[in-house]
Amino acid sequence: MGCSGALVKGEEILCTGCILSLPRTNYPLKEENPIKDKFTGRLAIKYAWAYLKFRKTGVVQHLLHQLKYNNHPEVGIRLGKLMGKELFVNGLNEQFDEIVPMPLHQQRERKRGYNQSVKIAEGISEQIGVNVSSNMVFRKTNTATQTKKSRAERWENVAEVFEVRDEPSVRGKRILLVDDVITTGASLEACGQQFLNCGCAEISIVCVAEAQ
Ligand SMILES: [Zn+2]
Repeated sequence: MGCSGALVKGEEILCTGCILSLPRTNYPLKEENPIKDKFTGRLAIKYAWAYLKFRKTGVVQHLLHQLKYNNHPEVGIRLGKLMGKELFVNGLNEQFDEIVPMPLHQQRERKRGYNQSVKIAEGISEQIGVNVSSNMVFRKTNTATQTKKSRAERWENVAEVFEVRDEPSVRGKRILLVDDVITTGASLEACGQQFLNCGCAEISIVCVAEAQ
């Protein structure tokens, strides 16, 4: 799915060469890093991390395009597994109670056939043995394309977008929010805030890639 080359035994979705050449961020996963810094003063979080660097051209863009627009959910699971391994080797496998994929609006999910963040979350779950909860939070409004808006306008747009529907099951939980690409982090912030309002113990965030 990366280089269109043939896979050998033991490889799935991505060949070893592609995996080795993925442009990793190499941020420390457990400590301060630029992704965690994004949320300083905005949202109290425990851990935040992005696995790869996203550029408009390149293998990460290609893989995420396959995942989101070309009906290849298996790419999300594969990337999630790679991320889950990193969480595991950093000793974070026992730091979360629920993995929560960022919700898509119902309409968009129906059109795509799946939520790409659920697929990524499933891959992570396989590696760290934590349950995926895809029904804890919903996206109430179908936000229009946000790329041409200012940060303040985006914030206004996402502030009332998410609703936690299963409050009792959120209380006291250490939540790991999962998304595909992080840009400003406004959606993650709004969603994470809803969980904190409902009494979760901690919010952490992992994304496949950071847009630069
Ligand atoms: Zn390859």
